[in-house]
Amino acid sequence: MQVATDKVVVIHYTLKNDAGEVLDSSDGSEPLAYIHGNGNIIPGLEEALEGKAAGDKLQVKIEPAKAYGEHNPELIQNVPKRAFQGVGNVQAGMRFTAQTEHGPRQVVVTRVVGDMVTVDGNHPLAGQHLNFDVEITEIRDASREELEHGHVHGPGGHHHG
Ligand code: ZN
Repeated sequence: MQVATDKVVVIHYTLKNDAGEVLDSSDGSEPLAYIHGNGNIIPGLEEALEGKAAGDKLQVKIEPAKAYGEHNPELIQNVPKRAFQGVGNVQAGMRFTAQTEHGPRQVVVTRVVGDMVTVDGNHPLAGQHLNFDVEITEIRDASREELEHGHVHGPGGHHHG
């Protein structure tokens, strides 16, 4: 069986940035299970896995445009501290969900100077190449229920309570 749309694909992966630092890995835990062609994982990785078989190992370098997007300077904004009412001591590194014209968006505080707070709404991996080491451990048909839910059930996937 090959990786194709609506197949459940189970992978072990290690993700590194261009500096070689490990950003994420399934090492030592359950592999990741996803439904191919359903936007469950970033587009560049889906493209690389298309047509591959169980047991295949691959190294993939993914451009930002096919990962978490280019870094967008317009998503960096200065807002007055009073916008953070109830937060107490606003500090760099804090994460918030901001309401924007494009809906809720995760932002991180990058700087606090006087009464002004700089927040960055870019994904932490925006603008970065993603370097994946991937091993496909299993490919199977998705069940009808999994396709209806849009996610995998069971090991490596979604567990309903
Ligand atoms: Zn479900």
